[in-house]
Formats: sequence, C-alpha cells, structure tokens
Amino acid sequence: MTLCYKCENELNELNSSDEHIILNACGGKLSSKDLLCKICNNEFGSTSDAALARQTKVLSHLLQVKRDRNKTPDIRGKSTTTGEGIVITKKGDIRKAKPTINIQQTGDQILLNVNANNWKEVSQIVVGLKRKYPNFPEKDFYKAAKEQKGYLNDSVSFEEQVGGDEAFRAVTKAAVSFYIFKGGDRKIIKHLLPYLTGEIQLTAAILHFLPLSIYDFDEDEVSHIIKLFGNPQEKILYCYIEYFNAQCYLVKLNDAYDGPPIDETYIYDVVHNQTLDKAVRVNYDRKLFESIFNSQEFISFEYPRIRYERTVLIATRRSDSEHIKDISKKALEETLKQFPGATIFTEEILKRYSETVVRKMMPFIVHKQKGRRTVQGNRKPRIPPQ
Ligand SMILES: [Zn+2]
Repeated sequence: MTLCYKCENELNELNSSDEHIILNACGGKLSSKDLLCKICNNEFGSTSDAALARQTKVLSHLLQVKRDRNKTPDIRGKSTTTGEGIVITKKGDIRKAKPTINIQQTGDQILLNVNANNWKEVSQIVVGLKRKYPNFPEKDFYKAAKEQKGYLNDSVSFEEQVGGDEAFRAVTKAAVSFYIFKGGDRKIIKHLLPYLTGEIQLTAAILHFLPLSIYDFDEDEVSHIIKLFGNPQEKILYCYIEYFNAQCYLVKLNDAYDGPPIDETYIYDVVHNQTLDKAVRVNYDRKLFESIFNSQEFISFEYPRIRYERTVLIATRRSDSEHIKDISKKALEETLKQFPGATIFTEEILKRYSETVVRKMMPFIVHKQKGRRTVQGNRKPRIPPQ
C-alpha cells in the first residue's frame, strides 16, 4: 500500500498520478506513480511547479525539449529597440505579438498603414476596417500590400527570473520526490511538507553555482542532474540539482539525518534524450555544507555566466544547424522542380543547386555576421480570396 507523501491518502488506480520528479515542462522524464495523488500533484502543478516552468521556459524552448503531454508553448519577449511585443513560436518562427494599424486622417483622405504577421491577420483587420469605413477600397488595399520575409535584425529580451519563493519550493519538492522515489523514509522529510504547500517559510533551497569541472560533460550534452547525498555520521541529507546545467540549486533535506548512507545520482541529457551514468563531484561534509548553506558564499558571477553561456551556445548551434539543413533541403527541392524527370545529378543540376543554396543561404550568413540572433522567416502565407 502506497500513500501520497503529502496528504497521506492511499494511492489507487483512480487517484494516483504520474509525478515528474524533474518537470516534464523542461523535458524531465523521470516519473513515478507512487509519490503523489492527483489532487496534490495538480496543486503543485498549478503553483510552485508552474513558477519553475516559467523560469526554465526559454531554455526549454531554445533546446526544443520533448515533452510527454502539453506542446511546447510560444514564448513572449520584447524587441530591445522598439519595445514591441515579439513571439517566438514552438517551431522557432518569430512574429509580432500583435499587428500594428496606423491610421492618419487629413481632410477626407485616410492614410492607412497595416503591419501584420500573415494574410489571415490582414483579412481580420480588413473586416474591421470595412465596418468602420463602408467605402474601404479592399481591392486596392490588397494590391498595395507586400509580403516580406526576413530575419529579425534586433535582439529580443525575455523576462526570466531565477530563484524566488515558488521556484525554491518546486526545487525542494523535486528533491523530496527523488528521495522518496529512491526508497527514503518519509519521516525524514516530513518537516518540509508544510513548506512545500506554502504554509510555513523556510530556507530549504538556495541557488548554488559550481564550476563546470564538477562533472565530465559529453559533447553537446545539456542535462538535468539530481544528486542525493545522505551521511548519518555527519547527520546531513542534501540534494544538488541542475536544470539544463544552468540553473543550479542546493536543497537541505535534513540536518539531523540518521538514516542509511545514500549516494544516488540521476542525469538526463535533453539534447540526446538519454539518461547518463556519471559522477557528479559535489561531496560536502556537514561543516562545509552548513557554511555554504548559511552564507551562500559559492555564488560568484562567473559560474552562472559560464554555465548559461555553455547551454545557450549548444542550443543556438543546434538551431543554426537545423536551419542550415532546412535551407539546403529546400534548395534541392526547388532545383529539382526545374528538372522534372531527372534521374541523375548532372553538372547542370549541380550548378543550379549550388546557385540556389548560395542565394538562399546568403541572408542567413549576412544575418549571422551581424552577430544577431538566428530566426527563421515566416512560412509562406496563404493569400485570401477577394
Ligand atoms: Zn495527496
């Protein structure tokens, strides 16, 4: 008989739920049905977990992590120059958060400037304009409308905060879930339950950034890491957690620990979608742990920067290479259309293909040389019937 570790109701087929120890929203795969009932799981899901998911969503998005349930959400940011709302869709397309309509009226002349993401948006605007101006010259308007594709030559800022009450709670919950998942005694973490639900305030988790050298990274690996360590001689049980190797936390589970020695590590590489079996060199004795935890002295500016840089570099490199593959594939399709029935790659086809690739690749290369962020052009819009 298994009980929900929060409300202690017996778990059965009806009320059990799949608790993701590392949020599924950031590509976490480790889950168990023996931890929380549906009600408790949903409660955490809509409060602390949601806060942590918001904090990791830009990295989740950049790395295009695979989720079991919900689709990758769009993320919203702002142009750093115009302040205009920008949306990055799950496919990596960039669009304006909303279309802009500029109406200038001089005498009985109206000058209209509409800037929209696609023709569907334009046609919705036209419906509104026709209502407002019964003589709206729809045909001329569409005739003058131009479609443009391109890269966003502007940087986009995202509001992303790390840490904060709710996120610390979510991270502590991940540590508690992992401890129980590994067969830990529920009594040992009982004092944390009212903290997890927000009934009491505690410092259970802190931000904790360590150099990359605590771990042997594989090439292009970006992982979530949980390391659980318990030492009854030292009377300490703690958990070290990394999200995307970039957001790192230390959780104090019990500082009067008298259970068996524990040393458990779980690593999931979200780039290659696999669990890894490696050592994480975070081994603190009680004295060192307490001094870190109380002073939070291990937060330097360097380690968070180095870690974010590494993760974002891997993510951008991957999205660039996907984009280049996409361009060269489209170039081939476009070339072969000009040679219907061709069965071999003749010199002429090759010449046309290389021309096409260069032409299609050039805007991307120019864009990259400007040192700006990569984005993909909008997909071709459908022109509405008139
Ligand atoms: Zn419950």
